[in-house]
Amino acid sequence: MTSLKGLTSDPRVTVRRAGAPSTNRGCVVYWMQRAQRALDNPALDVAVTAANVLHQPVVIFLAPVPFYPHANLRHYAFLAQGIPDTAEPARERGIGFILRRYPEHSLLKFCEEVGASLVIGDENPMREPHHWRELAAKMLSVPLWTVDADVIVPSKLLEKEQYAARVIRPRLQQRRAEFLKPLANLKAKIEWEKPRGLKALPDDGSIDLTEDWKDLDRSVQPVDNFRGGTTEALKLLKEFVTHKLAHYPERHGKPEVDGTSRLSPYLHFGHIGPHTVALAVEKSRAPRSAKDDFLDQLITWRELSVNFVHFNSLYDSIESTPDWAHRTLAKHARDKRPVTYSRDQLEHAETHDHLWNAAQRQMLHAGWMHNYMRMYWAKKILEWSPSPAVAYQTAVCLNDKYFLDGRDPNGYAGIAWAIAGKFDRPWLERPIFGTIRYMSGKAARKKFDADKYIKQMGELDGSVPQRAKRKPKTRMLRGRGSR
Ligand SMILES: Cc1cc2nc3c(=O)[nH]c(=O)nc-3n(C[C@H](O)[C@H](O)[C@H](O)COP(=O)(O)OP(=O)(O)OC[C@H]3O[C@@H](n4cnc5c(N)ncnc54)[C@H](O)[C@@H]3O)c2cc1C
Repeated sequence: MTSLKGLTSDPRVTVRRAGAPSTNRGCVVYWMQRAQRALDNPALDVAVTAANVLHQPVVIFLAPVPFYPHANLRHYAFLAQGIPDTAEPARERGIGFILRRYPEHSLLKFCEEVGASLVIGDENPMREPHHWRELAAKMLSVPLWTVDADVIVPSKLLEKEQYAARVIRPRLQQRRAEFLKPLANLKAKIEWEKPRGLKALPDDGSIDLTEDWKDLDRSVQPVDNFRGGTTEALKLLKEFVTHKLAHYPERHGKPEVDGTSRLSPYLHFGHIGPHTVALAVEKSRAPRSAKDDFLDQLITWRELSVNFVHFNSLYDSIESTPDWAHRTLAKHARDKRPVTYSRDQLEHAETHDHLWNAAQRQMLHAGWMHNYMRMYWAKKILEWSPSPAVAYQTAVCLNDKYFLDGRDPNGYAGIAWAIAGKFDRPWLERPIFGTIRYMSGKAARKKFDADKYIKQMGELDGSVPQRAKRKPKTRMLRGRGSR
């Protein structure tokens, strides 16, 4: 039988506040933030296992706040769509689900109300969520463990920043079999019964989560080409594994072809986890080479990005670049730019380059972009900005604002790769870029049918509503009345 000690020795688990959970009363609280799903969620499995050992019920606490960094209406709409898909299957496993929202979002208060004996959280390497976990560890009066639920190989096992895919790949491969296993999706032995009077919002999708959030940036509208939630994610996964995976090697570099999984928004919000995706791919009948190509993106490149954000605190700034890239960008910082565009012009897709404008329109209106076009998009921002530092900030700002999968380690790593040579090597020296790898529209046109892609994006115009408003600084944990 599993013991609590056995659980904390699992490398996915980090004990943030030590101590023995009370055994004679209370419940285990799963503070759900990054892994917003009931299916194949290692953090939820740890919570249920601990609750079963303690003979206590387990309850999920999900409490969205409007001050999540760089999040806007588009992101919250997607998040909200996923809630019923988490609440219902959780209940089927005997697990409680309590939804609250700012300003009733206090974890501390909730733990007091339900008499928590132990809090389980999920891991998030990004600056602010990481800080919230540290704060929670200080402020809670019961133990807090977090679980690295959204990667295959736990981040801490990699020990330090890995500087290239070829370096991290063998290390991940070595540990993959140990961690890429079907999850237990355990049932709670003691079913959760909601105490009378405990406040909870309806979790069936019937309420507007963002109502009254006066400072929320509502300028970026929800999209209709992606719908949030585990059900949609599983549908896309099935479609991908059945019809697209076998052709992934030859099609995934072609933006005009629908040849990739489009799962990035779901992976970002945790509506689906990498275990579910990787195991479905392994189980499929696609050729081994196609499986390997895809898993290299899902595991090597994705977990290289998580490793970057986990170990490099400068992940969203040009300061995160390797020394050679710093030197070459500095040497060429004053090179004459044949053309420069302001952030506003770029945002509105107002450049001379039709291919780039098409990609920008895809970002504005679909909240997503193909990987090849993301690389091209960022490289051209470097070429057309007054300096590399300005280019970097423009790319981070637009990426986080418009992509459903923005505000994610993959975005920071992708921008660092494209603009600042991260994970790459020096190439032939040229103006502006120095030895940073260059991409041209001409080369792009040789690789894929650029005119077809431009046409596909043609119906979308470049208009965007007003600018974002500033968000207030608010404490994450205390809730109502905090400053
Ligand atoms: C400048 C730039 C910005 C980017 N911004 C983001 C971002 O904000 N959010 C985001 O999730 N990805 C980002 N990427 C990475 C990549 O482009 C997307 O993950 C991918 O295009 C998503 O489409 P998909 O789900 O169909 O991918 P698929 O090809 O189906 O791949 C499956 C999954 O593997 C992961 N993956 C694929 N390619 C990469 C990659 N190059 N790096 C890391 N992980 C990868 C993603 O989680 C993806 O969902 C960026 C890349 C660049 C170059």
